[in-house]
Amino acid sequence: MQGWRAPDRGALFVLSGPSGVGKSSVIQRAMARVPHLGFSVSATTRAPRAGEKEGEHYHFIDSGDFASRVEAGAFLEHATVYDRRYGTLRAPTEAALGAGHSLILDIDVQGAAQVRRAMPEAVTVFLAPPDIGALALRLRSRGTDSEEVIRRRMEQVAVQVGEIGAFDFILVNDVLETTQTVFEGIVLAELHRRSRRGSVVGAMLRELP
Ligand code: 5GP
Repeated sequence: MQGWRAPDRGALFVLSGPSGVGKSSVIQRAMARVPHLGFSVSATTRAPRAGEKEGEHYHFIDSGDFASRVEAGAFLEHATVYDRRYGTLRAPTEAALGAGHSLILDIDVQGAAQVRRAMPEAVTVFLAPPDIGALALRLRSRGTDSEEVIRRRMEQVAVQVGEIGAFDFILVNDVLETTQTVFEGIVLAELHRRSRRGSVVGAMLRELP
């Protein structure tokens, strides 16, 4: 991005929404366009799906390992979704923000609530499906889950949508291009907040005659 000036501090963006709503596409595209914007790689006890890579999509760990990390306070947030445990590791999150990088967390609504409490300045975005029927279709066309899994995921949709009122921004993913533009707008606006631009303001004030 030409003429980009990095913020003084990185920001934390939470993107929640039902499975299959298109969060991954939105995240991939935003990371390709916005400098120093990374993806927070969660730990999970679920098995990798075809094509998923350790350390890129998730850290795949067993339940014993997950439990001892919970015990050690290693998670910024963690939750059980579809009987599997998922969590955001505290250390890499803090390291990224400390280095001036920003992060997107693809986490469920329970995790979003915990992040809000731990870091009130985090920006939370809910990505909603244009219609629930379309969501089931999308999960099936992905071809990675059984009918039983899809049925349970659809039950979870109700839980996720029920929490929508707690989010800062709501996007309905009708057209990916538009969703993308709006999501990037939110990210870029946050990174240009005055509280993240102190060094630019200071430099300008010093140069005044
Ligand atoms: P999936 O198994 O389809 O990758 O993810 C299932 C759900 O778990 C999604 O709603 C996703 O946002 C959520 N999820 C993934 N990682 C985390 C995490 O670290 N914490 C929480 N709370 N939810 C997560």
